[in-house]
Amino acid sequence: MVELRSVHKSFGSLEVLRGLDLEVRKGEVTVILGPSGSGKSTLLRAINHLEKVDKGWISVDGALIGYRRSGDKLYELREREVLKQRTQIGFVFQNFNLFPHLTVLENIVEAPVSALKRPRKEAVAHAGTLLARVGLADKADAYPKQLSGGQQQRVAIARALALEPKLLLFDEPTSALDPELVGEVLDVIKDLASQGTTMIVVTHEIGFAREVADTVVFMDEGLIVEQGAPGDVLDRPRHDRTRAFLSKVL
Ligand code: ATP
Ligand code: MG
Repeated sequence: MVELRSVHKSFGSLEVLRGLDLEVRKGEVTVILGPSGSGKSTLLRAINHLEKVDKGWISVDGALIGYRRSGDKLYELREREVLKQRTQIGFVFQNFNLFPHLTVLENIVEAPVSALKRPRKEAVAHAGTLLARVGLADKADAYPKQLSGGQQQRVAIARALALEPKLLLFDEPTSALDPELVGEVLDVIKDLASQGTTMIVVTHEIGFAREVADTVVFMDEGLIVEQGAPGDVLDRPRHDRTRAFLSKVL
């Protein structure tokens, strides 16, 4: 479903991704761990083409991200085509990023109506279903600032789901939350996992990784140091750097 081959990305002289290979199968959950600055957010942003890679390629569901192949040549996609690709990949950020001036319902309805040209009535009905799914059916008319962080993040997840993405990316979805609110957001993500949603989740929640991940990936300095089943990477890490990292976060 998702394939990265030899992905390189630099910011000036700083090489942030240094030849990354990764595969994510349809319906699976991949959790990415790694120290601050190891390139986790850059990796997610590259998958969504918010960052353009310097070398290598990324494909999602058979489509090259940012490029079209014709014969053996690659052509860069136009902005409009990039935006279309992006609608198929949901992105949930650390800081929720809801539109503050829109109600919860309008936050969810906005993209399907404007980007996918869905009829408003249909989008509103779907938003209602999604709000119920994240346990917020009664908050449709609230504004983001009237909600707790956990509730805002659940709205952000509903908003990502409204585009019916093929893939969901989460960048530390619970790290801005008070500890008592982390569980309610992780429960929503677990529920999505049990329904076969393909997801890549950057998080430091080791318990969540152990329970939900099909594959755990440990990244350091722009490379994947090791990856495998949670029981292997978390309990029997093969590399010193993985061990050192886990001893700090566990
Ligand atoms: P954290 O756990 O702190 O979120 P991360 O693993 O997500 O870290 P990235 O955000 O991917 O790390 O950043 C990797 C490196 O790239 C860092 O050194 C960061 O300062 C640098 N970097 C990221 N984005 C840019 C940018 N737009 N311009 C310049 N440097 C950047
Ligand atoms: Mg990050």
